[in-house]
Amino acid sequence: MIHSLPSDTTNLRRLEQNTVSVVQTPPVSVECEDVLAKLPLILQTSLDTRQILRLFDEKIKPLLAHNGLQFTHPDNKFEFRLGASRHHKCNYQLEIDHEYLGRLTVSRASRFSENEINLIEDLLCKLVYPLRNSLQYARALDAALTDMLTQLPNRQAYKNTLEREIDLAHRLKLPLSLMVLDIDYFKKINDSFGHQVGDDTLCRVADTLLHSLRRSDALFRIGGEEFAIVLSHSNHGAALQVAERLRAAIDDLNQTHAEQKFPISISIGLADLCVGESADSLFLKADEALYQAKFAGRNQVISSREIF
Ligand code: GH3
Ligand code: MG
Ligand code: MG
Repeated sequence: MIHSLPSDTTNLRRLEQNTVSVVQTPPVSVECEDVLAKLPLILQTSLDTRQILRLFDEKIKPLLAHNGLQFTHPDNKFEFRLGASRHHKCNYQLEIDHEYLGRLTVSRASRFSENEINLIEDLLCKLVYPLRNSLQYARALDAALTDMLTQLPNRQAYKNTLEREIDLAHRLKLPLSLMVLDIDYFKKINDSFGHQVGDDTLCRVADTLLHSLRRSDALFRIGGEEFAIVLSHSNHGAALQVAERLRAAIDDLNQTHAEQKFPISISIGLADLCVGESADSLFLKADEALYQAKFAGRNQVISSREIF
């Protein structure tokens, strides 16, 4: 059964019901009223969706016995579970003013009564506004770290990640490599076929790189036609193999425009992290190697070890 709460702005759509009706309605306890009154203020103390859901779960536990709470938001690529999922579930699609806010499931081993379902719905009405704020905040943060053309993480995201991964590599004495990649003669593509074909080429190169990498290797667009890849836990030999694989994958690409084909290639500079080395120093080494790869004729990989 699909059930919508009568409310002007908040809409909780119950998607499934695994319950039997219970006729008796116990009076709302003082404790319950207290939680319902304080819950919005408590949930507004955070803009982190996970933290809000943790607080929600913790505060409703004394009122509503449950084993698991699950929240998913496909658009935000967000999935969060608390406790263990059990057979009996109450599923809700959360919305405010037609804005989809995700799907929330409360589950446990025994059926929920009608009274408990009513209580869940009252509690969810307190959750939706803080939840919407946190989702909007997450989207704004995400946009600030995403390149709008290729949808890759941008230069700021690259800086954050590199600093963090270098810290980790130094602390745990792990290898780390950095690749700086640049499309060869990209200006010619723009000049000959127009900016739109240039943009399409950038997206195609970004997709090809992304699909040629392991999930743990982080790819960024750091400038016009420049990309960087942070290879955590990769030693020099492994990084060199990856670089060569990427160069070959791009070399195989051919863009078609007005029945003309034009070759695309990239040059790659590679550097590996030394003991105590900073992010700036590592980047300069990789960038110098890239410059050498351009100088040596492009469409090739040069490691900083070959020049320093
Ligand atoms: P090289 O092989 O030495 O790297 O030569 P190049 O032509 O690739 O390098 P150059 O720095 O001369 O030109 C880069 C061009 O990239 C110039 C700039 O207009 C273009 N560009 C930068 N960002 C974008 C973008 O977002 N879209 C498009 N279409 N072009 C861009
Ligand atoms: Mg270039
Ligand atoms: Mg460039």
